[in-house]
Amino acid sequence: MSQRQLFVTTALPYANGNFHIGHIMEYIQADIWVRFQRMQGHKVDFVGADDTHGAPIMIAAEKAGITPQQFVAGIAAGRKPYLDGFHIQFDNWHSTDAPENHALAQQIYRDLRDIPESQGGSLIERRTIDQFFDPEKNMFLPDRFIKGECPKCHAHDQYGDNCEVCGAVYAPTDLINPFSALSGAKPELKSSEHFFFKLSDPRCVAFLEKWTQDGKLQPEVANKVKEWFSVRTNPDGTTSEGLGDWDISRDAPYFGIEIPDAPGKYFYVWLDAPVGYLASLKNLLDQRGENYDAYMANPALEQYHFIGKDIVTFHTLFWPAMLHFSGRKTPNNVFVHGFLTVNNGEKMSKSRGTGLDPLKYLSLGMNPEWLRYYLATKLNNKNEDVDFNAEDFMLRVNSDLIGKFVNIASRAAGFLTKRFEGKLTQSFGEQGTALLSDIHAAKDSIAQAYDAREYGKATREIMLLADKVNAYVDQHKPWDLAKDVANNEALHQVCSLLINAFAELSRYLAPVLPSLAHAVEAFTGTAMQNWNATGNVAHIQPYQHLMQRVTPEQLEALFEPPALVEQRVAPCGEPIAPTISIDDFAKVDLRIAEIVHCEAVEGSTKLLRLTLDVGEGTDPQGRPITRNVFSGVASMYKPEDLQGKLTVMVANLAPRKMKFGVSEGMVLAASHADEKAEPGIYVLHPWPGAKPGMRIH
Ligand SMILES: [Zn+2]
Repeated sequence: MSQRQLFVTTALPYANGNFHIGHIMEYIQADIWVRFQRMQGHKVDFVGADDTHGAPIMIAAEKAGITPQQFVAGIAAGRKPYLDGFHIQFDNWHSTDAPENHALAQQIYRDLRDIPESQGGSLIERRTIDQFFDPEKNMFLPDRFIKGECPKCHAHDQYGDNCEVCGAVYAPTDLINPFSALSGAKPELKSSEHFFFKLSDPRCVAFLEKWTQDGKLQPEVANKVKEWFSVRTNPDGTTSEGLGDWDISRDAPYFGIEIPDAPGKYFYVWLDAPVGYLASLKNLLDQRGENYDAYMANPALEQYHFIGKDIVTFHTLFWPAMLHFSGRKTPNNVFVHGFLTVNNGEKMSKSRGTGLDPLKYLSLGMNPEWLRYYLATKLNNKNEDVDFNAEDFMLRVNSDLIGKFVNIASRAAGFLTKRFEGKLTQSFGEQGTALLSDIHAAKDSIAQAYDAREYGKATREIMLLADKVNAYVDQHKPWDLAKDVANNEALHQVCSLLINAFAELSRYLAPVLPSLAHAVEAFTGTAMQNWNATGNVAHIQPYQHLMQRVTPEQLEALFEPPALVEQRVAPCGEPIAPTISIDDFAKVDLRIAEIVHCEAVEGSTKLLRLTLDVGEGTDPQGRPITRNVFSGVASMYKPEDLQGKLTVMVANLAPRKMKFGVSEGMVLAASHADEKAEPGIYVLHPWPGAKPGMRIH
């Protein structure tokens, strides 16, 4: 087989929060495929990146009193424990805000804009559109930041693009009594020039009809995409008109990439997000001293994107069209998976994620390869949802992985070490030889299943082989043979066969269980990195536990507390945090503080600058020692509302450098977890009698 050159990506996670279990499932799915391809001897470059731009991150950063760059850097810093923890081995992790991405996105845009007339002309068009504008925040409002009354069912507090009560889809301008979710202000209609990618152009339609329907996409995905091309009447009576042009620009202020030759205009985040795949690759190649253009020009290069079903439009329409008409290579395929549900519960889409906390899983000492194996048994190449079921998880791990597979080694190794100095015989008897050749014969079929992302099928085949090996164990009973030295040769044969069978099965499972395979390599001295490795095990090291069982207590700890608390506090928008001890609480030094001065912060609509007296006495010059604290409460209070009042502050919080200065503590204030759902932030105020400096116990 000739060596293939593969460029593989996973979808870029939006950098407004940590990974949830849905991300981890996708990364594991891709990582298994990549490891399998490498075992075949193929060359793979596997990259990811943070998707950093857009209004939600800009607004979240402002809320936190930091720049969007600082905000996404904070998120990026938290990625490693998840990726390392679950053995997900990206060659590079980058950012869509990196210089490579700015340059590539702008160049792709220029190439689309400057298509000569002889080739049909530009695919970029400027159009003036009317859009809601927040007069207080001085910015155009994204649909999700406009709320109002549903024009159909009159439910209150609905988003600008669709009603969560009746499901109606509409334009923000259809809302009754619209208001800005950022400021509460009544938005004004204001016109602005926007840039469109002409997806409705006959060239794009013809190209995409072919690209999406030539048999590469999963059939269910291709069928779904096909619907988008046709003019049709929807079930709700509205008409869809085939492919529409795509609005690719946003007005300042926006955290994103500037559109060339268009001051104050930025690319919509979804234009530059997939370009981030190429930017991360380019960054990797630069680190290696390889040439990006030469790499992409290789006609044998294969490019694959693993994605969730919620972003199919972007990856099967916009992305291939952008690449093709800018003269670039299009993906060889897009592999779509469904969502992960947990215990038949909540959907793990890109924007929501609760239920199974990946870091909590790791912190409980749960083996990451249990999860990799369990997900592998559930994954196929269809766009179907996968459910994580706690009981099923325990059964698959304990009975398949430990009971059927790991036990093969633990049953045989002790006898070989104690009785034969760890040396194996190369003669397995007729039955043993036949069993080993059955295992070898399954190699191609298992390989095909991995290559086709049919991991469920691959693991089933491997476990059927393990069943055969266990039947052989039960028939020959090494523990009985060991009772009589006259059976030494038979015992040696049986145990040697078992170790060879185990090594072979370990190699088959290596894409799923890389860490276990590594341990088996040390234990048996056989290579686990090469799918087609041959040769029997000659000698083993003393057996050490390869894997523990899952305990019910671990699963209980993983799921119970959030499930219990979540219901109780749902109206506040966030569950009660895990229990802490009184010692943990004592670490937080809460003090009564007097707000001796309060003023607005120039350049921020969110922050007030507070000067606080927390009873720290006076300095050598006799001036009272005070603290400077920034607090994001300007939307609720005027400086004069707060000045002279008492409040509560965290007095021993590490000073934090913010855009406007150093904040030396934090004032306590209450708010709903989702500011959009319920705006408002309320400063705490003690009862009369409390004095500055008193500690709160
Ligand atoms: Zn409605």
